[in-house]
Amino acid sequence: MKYSEIMVRYGELSTKGKNRRDFIRQLGKNVRDILTEFEGIEVLAQRDRLHVILNGNDATPVMDAIGKVFGIETYSPVVRLSKDATLEDIQKTALEMINEQYEEGQTFKITTKRQNKDYPLNTYGVDNGVGGYVLDNIEGINVQMKQPDIDLRVDVRLTGIYLSSLTIQGALGLPVGTGGRGTMMLSGGIDSPVAAYMAMKRGVKVDMIHFFSPPYTSQQALAKAKDLTAKLTAFGGTIDFIEVPFTKIQEDIKEKVPEGYLMTIQRRMMLRIAAAITLDRHCNGVFTGESLGQVASQTIESMRVINEVTSLPVLRPLLSLDKTEIIKIARKIDTYDLSIMPFEDCCTIFTPPSPKTKPDLDKTIKFEKNIDVEGLMKMALENLKVTKIHVGDDYLNAQKDVFAELL
Ligand code: ATP
Ligand code: MG
Repeated sequence: MKYSEIMVRYGELSTKGKNRRDFIRQLGKNVRDILTEFEGIEVLAQRDRLHVILNGNDATPVMDAIGKVFGIETYSPVVRLSKDATLEDIQKTALEMINEQYEEGQTFKITTKRQNKDYPLNTYGVDNGVGGYVLDNIEGINVQMKQPDIDLRVDVRLTGIYLSSLTIQGALGLPVGTGGRGTMMLSGGIDSPVAAYMAMKRGVKVDMIHFFSPPYTSQQALAKAKDLTAKLTAFGGTIDFIEVPFTKIQEDIKEKVPEGYLMTIQRRMMLRIAAAITLDRHCNGVFTGESLGQVASQTIESMRVINEVTSLPVLRPLLSLDKTEIIKIARKIDTYDLSIMPFEDCCTIFTPPSPKTKPDLDKTIKFEKNIDVEGLMKMALENLKVTKIHVGDDYLNAQKDVFAELL
């Protein structure tokens, strides 16, 4: 079936007035951003619906992309006929549409709405004309008014006659960008991409902060974090990725801090830097992928000691999820396979065999005096690198190509 557009119904639109306008404008912007790789597509974000005009593009990959965008309740592929299409035109298109979905024994109904009062047939005329034609041409199909298997809608509007029969569930949530801005501490692990997904689901635009420690961590580890970010752009568009050089900090901590406190102080340095970046970018909180009880740094006692370095909210969308629940989401959002690729993260190097699960705040502060907190932070913050990551970017494969050329 050659569809002409995808019609999108807005999600959770409880807000009115200006908020509603912002919601619609932001969703339009996100959808446009996500669909840039398709040539010639037009996105019209109107008051009641958003229309994605295909201009010759195949509907299937476009619908796959739309299905992931937050802020969409449902969507339908639509065939648009001209506003004075004849009953015969409508009948033929309707039959083709139903035939595409029809399985033996299914029922259908035709629901016509007419905004264009000048159209020569009323809703009854269209319903009957099309319904009768379908009955005559598909053997065994029956009409059912209540909960039919196929509900073919004919919308007779001033701009054209629109036919649709499929309604597909969208990703729900709020359009990314309508819920304020935050930063996300993104490692290469399983958890933080899932946490980012959940922050984005509630409309928060997240900037990724990634700490890396060359030469202890590889270029692939960095590329992997960028590719995880690329996966996450599917839900709301382009994302800023901020690399923080962390080698010197880790080396100093390793040299000057007792082993039991390495991890705690390392985490405090990370959070201090993340908080500084957050404020600098006018964001309002730091998201992490922590969940209670998973590892030593993720006890409530440990969180308190790490959290002490900032008054910004540190938001932990996965706090109460079990690992199996997190993995399930990671698979759903297609980050899992990337996350389990075995490149060393900066937190796994220099980790002592038994970090303190209940670090003492006074001792932490005392041991932290062994390092130059301000100087190290300044150096890291002066050497940030920001990359805009777009839908479809692929850093790991790009690297493979470079290596292949060298060989
Ligand atoms: P993840 O699966 O997200 O890596 P984890 O279970 O491995 O989490 P930790 O290694 O203790 O747990 O990390 C806890 C959180 O700290 C991560 O979810 C992430 O938010 C942040 N974090 C860890 N390493 C980094 C890093 N290299 N860059 C940025 N943030 C990090
Ligand atoms: Mg990790």
